[in-house]
Amino acid sequence: MSDCCDLHLHSTASDGTDAPRDLPRLCRDAGLSAFALTDHDTTAGLAACAAAAKKIKIDFVPGIELSANPDLDHTGKPFGTLHLLGHFIDPDDPGLATITQRMIEARAQRNPRIIEKLNAQGVRITYQQVLDRARTLPAADEDKQIETIVGRPHIAQVLIEAGYVKSIHEAFTKYLGPAGGAYTRRDRLGAAEAIDAIHAAGGLASLAHPVQLKLPDDAALERFAAKLKTLGLDGIETRHSDHAPADVQRFTRLAERFTLRTTGGSDYHGSRKTVRLNSQAVPRAVYENLRDAAMSRSTA
Ligand code: AMP
Ligand code: FE
Ligand code: FE
Ligand code: ZN
Repeated sequence: MSDCCDLHLHSTASDGTDAPRDLPRLCRDAGLSAFALTDHDTTAGLAACAAAAKKIKIDFVPGIELSANPDLDHTGKPFGTLHLLGHFIDPDDPGLATITQRMIEARAQRNPRIIEKLNAQGVRITYQQVLDRARTLPAADEDKQIETIVGRPHIAQVLIEAGYVKSIHEAFTKYLGPAGGAYTRRDRLGAAEAIDAIHAAGGLASLAHPVQLKLPDDAALERFAAKLKTLGLDGIETRHSDHAPADVQRFTRLAERFTLRTTGGSDYHGSRKTVRLNSQAVPRAVYENLRDAAMSRSTA
């Protein structure tokens, strides 16, 4: 049996390009013995993925990745992004379902405003093209029960296809990111709200890819981690495709300092990004450690 796990994956339920039911097989072929599906702000892909995982006997972790407001002390500092991973959540938890609905509505209000700004800058794309992109991804059709999260990556895809940019990166730099010409804020969860929702659903909450917070130095990161810890944070994602070996060491020390568990994964998005499944070679013990913690939490 393989001794690796990958605890951070996306499917067509958010902005990945593989259907949830196809992921277990792909994971097994990549040499994994355990994996987590952690779609952005939705649990819609978990049931189909769990069923497929059961058939081929690979350990499956129901998860989610919640986007939250990184401005913890409301000082308005320009941070990067704050994503919180929930592992071992109940896929049918009503609290998470409510959050999913709220975030679908937040994006549904924001996305057309992004298109308006693009149109005002002479970029001729329509919101219908974006919706078509999100809903006709390869192999998504048979998962009829899934309501897809429609987000900026889908807008980026239309911008590429229409020839306005050459890459997703350019789409975010030029138009969609905070410094881009069509940037539009949306309603975001508070960090406390996100952590509480994960706990209420029986899961463990971990800080995803800390480098994406874009904090100025280690001292700022420690203050940030300390605050999240007071809000109930359980873990930190130490291994991730955006982390250099030195980052993995820094974040592992941070985890030890604040008695946090560690998690790790590729952040696989299918063909939308270049990262491969199992690229982080996360030891299976990381999965077992989280599983045991989740179990003792639920029986406490
Ligand atoms: P949304 O949730 O609709 O605001 O879109 C955010 C998603 O876009 C993130 O979760 C990432 O998957 C993706 N994203 C954000 N910034 C970038 C970037 N600079 N390059 C590529 N993808 C990005
Ligand atoms: Fe994503
Ligand atoms: Fe993320
Ligand atoms: Zn992710």
